[in-house]
Amino acid sequence: MVELTDVKEIENQYASGVYAKRNITIVRGQGALLYDDQGTEYIDCVGGQGTANLGHAHPKVAQAISQQAQTLISCPELFYNDQRAALMSRLGQLLPGLERVFLCNSGTEAVEAALKFARFGTGRPRYIASMRGFHGRTMGALSATWEKKYRGPFEPLIQGFSHVPYNNLEALDGALDDQTAALILEVVQGEGGVYPGSAEYLNGAQRLCRERGALLIIDEVQTGFGRTGKLFAHQHFNIQPDLLCVAKSIAGGFPMGAVLFGQRVPALQPGIHGSTFGGNPLACAAALAALDVQEQEHLPERAAEMGAYFKEQLEEIHSPLIREVRGLGLMLGIEIKQKVAPYLAALMERHVLALPAGLTVIRLLPPLVISREQIDRVVAALREVLSA
Ligand code: PMP
Repeated sequence: MVELTDVKEIENQYASGVYAKRNITIVRGQGALLYDDQGTEYIDCVGGQGTANLGHAHPKVAQAISQQAQTLISCPELFYNDQRAALMSRLGQLLPGLERVFLCNSGTEAVEAALKFARFGTGRPRYIASMRGFHGRTMGALSATWEKKYRGPFEPLIQGFSHVPYNNLEALDGALDDQTAALILEVVQGEGGVYPGSAEYLNGAQRLCRERGALLIIDEVQTGFGRTGKLFAHQHFNIQPDLLCVAKSIAGGFPMGAVLFGQRVPALQPGIHGSTFGGNPLACAAALAALDVQEQEHLPERAAEMGAYFKEQLEEIHSPLIREVRGLGLMLGIEIKQKVAPYLAALMERHVLALPAGLTVIRLLPPLVISREQIDRVVAALREVLSA
């Protein structure tokens, strides 16, 4: 039995070493709040790195998981399953033109699958991705990721990836050719610093892909499931992805990823891809409950309203340290003129948890159920640390 006092020591001793840790032990959550082992309450603007859109410990998700765990946990896709069928039909009818579903377990796996499907479907060898883009850490998704810090130690990566500046249609025009299998894009670049795409760019990117026979992969792993004020961020711009990658909040925080795709991806064949855990009934039951909650609690609309309020309040912090406040819905970034690490630590002392995005951006990804009063407390803490 692990004594609570030993938690940090034990993790430090046995953990892989690939994560930098913050010095608190989180043991419980509810809604937009987290609690440490001393009972201290924090307002959570990390939001499980985008997995906790529904809020922590949502009772409907907890109940669906518990009930399904007592019924059937494992069932690989070589058999049919009731929970999976229900989820597939739900996902396959969410967005026009994206009626097929591949289920997996994380964001990077969704990206890997989309990259493979695009290559298999088009027979073309090349991919275009964006500078500042982030798509995951497995070798294919990492090849699409831009940041040297993540890529450098693992080069040579997969051949055929080019990176062009984001929101620059001319550069994209020059790079996309008849050897391009797919263009992969985030609608709002998350890890790269919270940079929303422009309508002109996203629409132009879709047009160029169609003209040149390349597939458009939209990575909504971070922006999906209500985060930006619509169920999916690309719906702000009226574009139609050929492949849509999702994960994080799809199953209310339970691990799951998915690729939705349609007719423009030529037929796939048995055996070209797969996943042992993909589409397991437990994750499917959690995702079904999470989709119900998205609808019943109007979470996308809530993110739009609370996000607009949050952004307005942030813009009222007139600190000389702030360069810019950016974002869409409840995906917000505050770019400052210094490195963010000490500011994140100062926020934590004031019981607010937030993320970095790159070196100089404070990123806020609160659960979409955050209240105005909680937003006011976050803004007050930010005002204090950014004026100090
Ligand atoms: N794509 C995007 C846009 C992401 O933000 C992330 C994770 N931050 C990923 C892919 C990878 O997701 P995961 O960590 O679940 O593999």
